[in-house]
Amino acid sequence: RQRLAGKRVIVTAAAQGIGRASALAMADEGAKVFATDVNADALADLIHDNVETFVLDVRDGVSVKDGVARANPDVLFNCAGFVHHGTVLDATDAEWDFAFDLNVRAMWRMIQAALPGMLERGGGSIVNMSSACSSIIGAPNRFIYGTTKAAVIGMTKSVAVDYITKGIRCNCICPGTVESPSLEDRLHALGKQVGGYEEAKKQFVARQPMGRIATADEIAALVVYLASDESGFTTGQPHIIDGGWSG
Ligand code: NAD
Repeated sequence: RQRLAGKRVIVTAAAQGIGRASALAMADEGAKVFATDVNADALADLIHDNVETFVLDVRDGVSVKDGVARANPDVLFNCAGFVHHGTVLDATDAEWDFAFDLNVRAMWRMIQAALPGMLERGGGSIVNMSSACSSIIGAPNRFIYGTTKAAVIGMTKSVAVDYITKGIRCNCICPGTVESPSLEDRLHALGKQVGGYEEAKKQFVARQPMGRIATADEIAALVVYLASDESGFTTGQPHIIDGGWSG
């Protein structure tokens, strides 16, 4: 039997990276997946019998309400997030506000929209994307990012404890560095400061004792587990998957 047969799933930021890999992995396991992203062009080639795609901007309350109503999900994977570069002294108000809106508040928006339907059906699984760079570990030049991803862990625990007796589970995922289009952008940007793309990549690889970067599929496997009833005894937890970085 497929591990997610009969489940309706909504994924944010599903056009690329971990979101896309997770949408496809959950569809392979028999879920009906609503794969959403703000980027319609990037969604266009996300094709699978069990996947329906549509545009959902997690920063827009109306878009969130409409999208969640359309999906009526049993599983919510809040994957959208953005990485700002810099220290506490570099951070600007605009970056801080943008990051908290996209990385934290948007998850609240999605949960608030999806939870009533889950409660009505007596069950649901919410999976939030945090990071090893959060309250787990500090990473250089990730001041705003690490702060927002620590907030995601707090939000996850709050939601979990309030609905623990109502059949709702809420967990979050804390990856180390993962292959994705936005990681490529960050490597090119850092490369300009440290003498090239290859040197930047070497630095990112070095911080993970396994000596490599994760694939998006490796993270998707954890998303499938947390979405499925196999993980029925875990809630309120940050699930660290970081190649030994924080170990
Ligand atoms: P990515 O950064 O390459 O892609 C992000 C996607 O988010 C894009 O498709 C983009 O269109 C979408 N998006 C941006 N704004 C949006 C909005 N307002 N509404 C809906 N979608 C929006 O993908 P990734 O690197 O796999 O990152 C996905 C998540 O995983 C993020 O939350 C990120 O912080 C987290 N994460 C990534 C890594 C990594 O190394 N790649 C590590 C830990 C955590």
